[in-house]
Amino acid sequence: MLIPQSHPRYASLVKREKIVAGIKAGITSKKGLIAHGRGEAFDYLIGERTLPAARAATEVAAALLLTAKKPVISVNGNVAALVPEQVIALSKLITAPLEVNIFYWTEERVRRIKAHLERHGATTVLGDIADARIPGLESARARVARDGIFAADVVLAPLEDGDRCEALLKLGKQVISIDLNPLSRTSQQATVSIVDDIERALANLLATLQTQQSVGKAILAARIAAFDNQKNLRHVVDEIATRLTRAELLEF
Ligand code: ATP
Ligand code: MG
Repeated sequence: MLIPQSHPRYASLVKREKIVAGIKAGITSKKGLIAHGRGEAFDYLIGERTLPAARAATEVAAALLLTAKKPVISVNGNVAALVPEQVIALSKLITAPLEVNIFYWTEERVRRIKAHLERHGATTVLGDIADARIPGLESARARVARDGIFAADVVLAPLEDGDRCEALLKLGKQVISIDLNPLSRTSQQATVSIVDDIERALANLLATLQTQQSVGKAILAARIAAFDNQKNLRHVVDEIATRLTRAELLEF
């Protein structure tokens, strides 16, 4: 479908088209549509823009990735459909593997996501050989690569499920989430929660990483230590509450 750029909901409609194309290509699961819709609802509530709290979280996420010994970027069917180029650029910038990590696991879908990422230029995509398990999760969702997420110290987990986020934290990993819902279990539990749309969040993360690359490790560590994720999430919820009670929103 050709969407005119002048359409007021252009960016949102293009994202929908990408998710639908992902389903047609066997990359995204149908349930991914539901997750996307929930994300859209929260994006509407935050005004479809990057909030200052998301910028603050992005700074700390960049510091975590730059000081990590073994960072890994988790990619699910929605992420692969929406932002393949951006996750690949990130993977190259910080020398971290991509790992296909899907909730509704099938060998076929993992293979398709890996091939899709490789077509877009990815060089290291793990997850097709899922030879380790995250304790505390039932079988399909527990599968990870031994040399990938299982061995990672920092996991960037966009659009992640709350159970898996919790299990990764219990394994001692630091988790950076990208999730538009500030109240999801993932956002509530992650080490650093970026509450923003994945496209905007990754664009900001890439730009931030580029400017922070030359910053010393001690300064980065101090930024991480000074960050309070719960307090930062509170700013997002306050922003939503303020928008909802502002009269102009109701004057359509
Ligand atoms: P949780 O299990 O963490 O409580 P959930 O069950 O509500 O969350 P899931 O379906 O497990 O949600 O995960 C999808 C999450 O991804 C949702 O919270 C949704 O808001 C978010 N999401 C969907 N699309 C996007 C997007 N484009 N950018 C950022 N976040 C998104
Ligand atoms: Mg969930």
